[in-house]
Amino acid sequence: MDEKIIVLKFGGFAVSTGENIKRICAIVKKEREKHKVVVTVSALYGVTDELVEISKKISNLPAIAVEDAAKKFYDEILALHYKTVKECIADEKILNVAMEKIKALLEKLRITLIGIGYLEEINPKFMDFVISFGEKMSIHIVSGALNDIGIKAYPLTGYEAGIITDSNFSHARPLPVINETINKNLMPLIEKDTVPVVAGFIAADIKGTATTLGRGGSDYTAALLAKHLKAVEVQIIKDVEGVLSADPKITKNAKLIRQLSYAEAMDLALFGAKVMYSRMIEPAMEANIPVRVKSIFKPDDEGTVIVKKEEVIDRIVKAVTMMKDVAIINIKGVGMAETPGIMGKIFSEFGNRGINIIMVSGSSESNLSLVVKKSDIENTVEAITTGLNSGMRKIDVMDNVRIIAVIGAGMAGSKGVAAKIFKIVADNDASIIMIAQGSSEVNISFVVEEKFSEDVVKAIHEKFIEK
Ligand code: ASP
Ligand code: MG
Repeated sequence: MDEKIIVLKFGGFAVSTGENIKRICAIVKKEREKHKVVVTVSALYGVTDELVEISKKISNLPAIAVEDAAKKFYDEILALHYKTVKECIADEKILNVAMEKIKALLEKLRITLIGIGYLEEINPKFMDFVISFGEKMSIHIVSGALNDIGIKAYPLTGYEAGIITDSNFSHARPLPVINETINKNLMPLIEKDTVPVVAGFIAADIKGTATTLGRGGSDYTAALLAKHLKAVEVQIIKDVEGVLSADPKITKNAKLIRQLSYAEAMDLALFGAKVMYSRMIEPAMEANIPVRVKSIFKPDDEGTVIVKKEEVIDRIVKAVTMMKDVAIINIKGVGMAETPGIMGKIFSEFGNRGINIIMVSGSSESNLSLVVKKSDIENTVEAITTGLNSGMRKIDVMDNVRIIAVIGAGMAGSKGVAAKIFKIVADNDASIIMIAQGSSEVNISFVVEEKFSEDVVKAIHEKFIEK
């Protein structure tokens, strides 16, 4: 083992059964022959979703049903964790330690749920507290399983590992102080050859109030740890072999991509590939740390490596991806052309409301089209009406659309790629409703009607990648 650190992140699938947790242990053991290892884990498979669901459900129940519902949930989650613990921890003492911790956490959760039920209120702050329990429990299982095979390991919540965030519940962002706190909290363990097992996704603000980094955010935790610990690599270990050239549910000919640049990976994640959390790329890129995506079933395979270098491959296009659940919002109005600063006003209103604009295109001064998530439609329309408090305007919404993004660094220097792509779209009887303006050099993205989207993805994949 050298002094270099590697961060290994295991997602919900990896912590789905005792058998998979044993695979985690084997991977950690092997990596420890080479480097010092830091582990980040998600909640047990499906648990975060269940926590979200019960919070909503219990806040709507009549008072008389609240305590039973909380107890029933306690029993179910306890049974799931107990089953998993028994499958991966043989030593009775270690098993009991893990179960005691889990039971104490679940008791706290049960009481919290009762509170939510009686007060009939669930807000982002309460929700973050409730969903933090998933990872708070799973760290004890993984850390116990490592101890069970003789590897010294120590469980830590995100906050205990030094991840301190702002108080934007449900999408909190780390504060600069983490540069010190992560090192201060983890280095003493790492130096003693203990494997820190850090809860992904969850953190706390400066007061210690629970926050989360956004669904899927444990990848982000891993990247933050890697950046501040100056790791040699961060690995995202999943149930797939790496990043694929398309969603295998759409085209069965999807291929494993060996290498991607940070920019390509970020665009892929932003435009719908569920392979990683897009925000995780930023810390890795800032510190120039390779991100490797690989399978828990084939840990010796290379998977996909994401690095700074833009590898231009012969096929030019590396991946084609599709983003669902989006809508186009068109704003038309003479007022816009005449009122200076109108764009600024609208966009700062989006910022205030935390609305993420996925694509923008303005065909004329008095016409602006935006793409947002379907769940943001109402909020966006409100923001526009607030920002545009003068002038004539008309807003319309199209919600039967999808974004298709074609990704590959080679496209920038190669003539006629866009023309070929658009011809494929036309050959599929689809028309392009919107094209991104000022899109990055590594992607061409456009919007088509939902009903054509899968055929277009298939056809682009076939023409550019399968040949
Ligand atoms: N457990 C969290 C979620 O399901 C975070 C993660 O798995 O990355 O969203
Ligand atoms: Mg995930």
